[in-house]
Amino acid sequence: MENKDKTRVCVIGAGPAGMSVLYQFAKLGKIPNIVCYEKQSTWGGIWNYTWRTGLDHNNEPCHSSLYKDLWTNAPKEANIEFPDYTFEKHFGKPVPSYPPAPAVRDYLQGRWTNACSSDLKQFIQFNTIVRFVKFENNNFVVTIDDRKKKVTSQEVFSHVVVCSGVFNYPNQPEVPDIIKFEGRVMHSHNFRNAIEFKGQTVLIIGSNFSGEDVALHCLKYGAKHIYISWRTQPTGLKWPKGIEERPEVIRFGENNAYFKDGSKAVIDVVIFSTGFRNHFPYLDANLRITEDTSLYPDGLYKATLFLNGGNNKLFYIGAQQQLYTMTYFDCIASWVCRYIIRELADEPKSGEEMKRDVTKWTSREAKLASVKDKVDFQADLLAEICSSSGYDKSILKAVSLFDDLIRHRKEDISDFRRHQFRSIYTGSLAPTQKPYMKMFDDTLETFLKC
Ligand SMILES: Cc1cc2nc3c(=O)[nH]c(=O)nc-3n(C[C@H](O)[C@H](O)[C@H](O)COP(=O)(O)OP(=O)(O)OC[C@H]3O[C@@H](n4cnc5c(N)ncnc54)[C@H](O)[C@@H]3O)c2cc1C
Repeated sequence: MENKDKTRVCVIGAGPAGMSVLYQFAKLGKIPNIVCYEKQSTWGGIWNYTWRTGLDHNNEPCHSSLYKDLWTNAPKEANIEFPDYTFEKHFGKPVPSYPPAPAVRDYLQGRWTNACSSDLKQFIQFNTIVRFVKFENNNFVVTIDDRKKKVTSQEVFSHVVVCSGVFNYPNQPEVPDIIKFEGRVMHSHNFRNAIEFKGQTVLIIGSNFSGEDVALHCLKYGAKHIYISWRTQPTGLKWPKGIEERPEVIRFGENNAYFKDGSKAVIDVVIFSTGFRNHFPYLDANLRITEDTSLYPDGLYKATLFLNGGNNKLFYIGAQQQLYTMTYFDCIASWVCRYIIRELADEPKSGEEMKRDVTKWTSREAKLASVKDKVDFQADLLAEICSSSGYDKSILKAVSLFDDLIRHRKEDISDFRRHQFRSIYTGSLAPTQKPYMKMFDDTLETFLKC
């Protein structure tokens, strides 16, 4: 059995997932020896908008995929609002269900500062990149690169929690003859300001949540016409005038795209909204999960504890496909913290028991068909984790909010954000906000005038 005093925890990334680890340790009042390495100069992860693409201020791969004027794509009551720190508490009044990114960031930051008795920043080393993590002699040797001090060093930890995000390494499939296309080709990771496509005809490859949002965004900011190309099946959504769906692109010409149904379209720009890879380049290969994205990455007990290396001391948070988001990370983080300090009554389990449990979930995932099935899957998983860690089970009530969201999106994809929701925790109904297609100002000040 491990000596508690030797516990030293490394958290990689100070986005919502990594911050939940620090927050939950603080909430327990049992903060171990812990360091969080963050390559950006501040906390917030994806929610730090940057104008940069390609390389960041340290000449490292730019992390954030956030674009200007992004409003959340699900009501905050479903997957962002925390039971112990509501939006109403943070802003002093109920606010609309679909906040713009600056309001989300402000809220998160509020929880990490106002709702926490410890100064969480003291545990974070900013502008520090984790370059390599290997497991030897029952510990993790972590190589870090401090870009401020210009020092590379190695630190030893008993536990590592990977919270570096999954929306930063684009998945870009090859499409025949794309090299012949003379217009702009980009991935949504580098999409920043839709105004640049005003008057242009845009082809979006990929009809997932991100493709849908980028399409509406381009229309809102004046694109002439938008095609969305799907591969598996059409979205079945009622698109506003100016957006139309086409099947898979089979090849490109100099200024056009040819689709599987024999049609073709003249286009100015191609935006790949083909998702991201679960890529963790800094982990020794034997500590990595697969690059394919899923709701329950294989080999992760409780969707977090890595079983294939690291002697049950390596965790991933936020590496799953996301419907539940912030509350999911927070709930898993509470389990991870208690697991590390050995305060879970029903853990640890034997290796065989844990593997059987993983198979139970991965087999179930293989049979899921609809978005609703996926939400229920995540809720059932969270229910188990809440039972084990004692996290507030009220977060499970969000299932009915997701049901409403699915219905609202089907009714009107361009204006589903007009619906307002009740907070699960305060019962307050969110005030109305302008129709999405008419909201152009994403500032916190304007949001708070609603
Ligand atoms: C365009 C877009 C829109 C979204 N919209 C919504 C929404 O409306 N609602 C919602 O709930 N969720 C949304 N999400 C999901 C989003 O992923 C989560 O909300 C959340 O930000 C994920 O948190 P995270 O901490 O796992 O990852 P991130 O927010 O990505 O944070 C990871 C952190 O790790 C750091 N890092 C990475 N590598 C290293 C390294 N080697 N060394 C040190 N630090 C490192 C990064 O700099 C970053 O700060 C959206 C995502 C995207 C991309």
